[in-house]
This record gives sequence, C-alpha cells and structure tokens, in this order.
Amino acid sequence: MKHKIKYWVARLQARLMSRLAPKTLHVPTDHAVITFTFDDVPDSTLYYGATILEKYGLRGTFYVAGGLAGTSETSRKLITESGIRELAERGHEIGCHTFSHANVAALKDAQLQSEIDRNRSFLSRILGDNKGGHGPKFNFAYPYNAVSYFAHRRLARNYRTCRAGENRINRGAISPQMLYGMEIRQPEAHSLQLTREIDAVKAQPGWLIFFTHDISETPTSYGCTPATFEKLVQYAVQSGCEILTVDEALDDYASAHAV
Ligand SMILES: [Zn+2]
Repeated sequence: MKHKIKYWVARLQARLMSRLAPKTLHVPTDHAVITFTFDDVPDSTLYYGATILEKYGLRGTFYVAGGLAGTSETSRKLITESGIRELAERGHEIGCHTFSHANVAALKDAQLQSEIDRNRSFLSRILGDNKGGHGPKFNFAYPYNAVSYFAHRRLARNYRTCRAGENRINRGAISPQMLYGMEIRQPEAHSLQLTREIDAVKAQPGWLIFFTHDISETPTSYGCTPATFEKLVQYAVQSGCEILTVDEALDDYASAHAV
C-alpha cells in the first residue's frame, strides 16, 4: 500500500511538472539529438562508459552525488574525487544529483538548498572551473527520478536543466526542470531493444536522453554490460543522429532559439 501511494505521488508530481512548470525550453523537431548520461557515477562508468564513448569520439554527462563519492556498496563502488577530475579532464560533462542522493520530493526547501550548495561546493573544490560543460550552471538529475513540482523554482534558479525518467523522448516545448530520460537497465534484452528508441528519434526527431548507472560485466539491475552499452553507442553513431552532452545539446538549442 505504502509503495502504491509513493508511486502515485511520483506520477502526480511528474504530471504537474510536465503540465504546469513553464515550458521555456524548445527542443527542435527538425534534427535528432541523442545524449548518454550516468547517474550516481559508479567507478565502472569511468572505466567502461567513458572509454566506450571516447572510442567513437563522443562524450557523456555524469550526474555526481558528492556524498557518495569514493564509497563502496555491496554491488558497486562509486567514483572517487580523482575519478571525477579525470572525467572532466577527458572532456565529459559533470552534472549534479543531490549531495547525499536525497529524494528532492522528500526535502524541505532549506534542506534542498543545502543539498544543492553542498554538491556545488564539493564539485567546485575538485574541478575548479573545469566542470566539463559550457553553461554557467550545472545540469541536474533527480535521484530516483523523483520529481518535485513544488521545488521547480528553486531548481530553476540553481540548475540549467533537471533530468527525470519517464522513458520518453523530448520534443517541442518542455520545462527545463522536466527533461525526460530513457533508462538503460536490466534485463540485458530490454536494453538491447532500446535501438528502437534510436530509430524512433531518427524517424520523428527530438532529444533522446539515455541514462544508466553502472557499466559492468556483472551489472546491478540499474546498469548494463559494456557490450550492450557499446552496441547502443554504435547504433546511435550509425543512425547519423547528433550525439551531444546535455550542455552541448542546450547550447545547440539556444543558438537556434532563445532559451
Ligand atoms: Zn541516482
């Protein structure tokens, strides 16, 4: 029961955000863009995810929760401070989760601002000015993809965009606090079938933002193997779609329209 209520509250928040938050970002439907993003940033994304993208001359966006950095969980290790620095030096974009991976929808206003500030100062200390992005602000991803409509103004003041889940492609007028993401996860067969989403964005252009967690030979439920990840990257390259980081896609859209 508790689970069901949580589920419906999350659906409601996502719907409020999609409908009511100001749609100030226009995703053009005349050319297709694909972005690969990583949440939490397990260290395997540096060894496999970043390396596979680089093999094709591409870069990704990595949403770091500073409070998890360098910690070990049962089935994964999170990236260290030097790993984060290395990602940025290799040209990848560093984005933000909340510092402690707290659910935005469960935080009071002051708690949310503290999470935002802690993560920003954590990353600024490690990266200096090199956040591997182009915009003046970091991009953000909601932990657990849990959106909070009530936080949208605070998030808008602090971040360039906020990425959720929803497994949809972004097209036309959208809220920058409600970028849709498409999850690469287990089972492996499910992730391999995501090539059809690449076909879909090619056929009807917009912005397809993939997200995943670990890229590992023994992935958690929320990750995939290096082989599957590389198949998706390869397929995206062959599709002829533009493959950009979140910041690069926003710069691309801003040059076509005033954002
Ligand atoms: Zn997360």
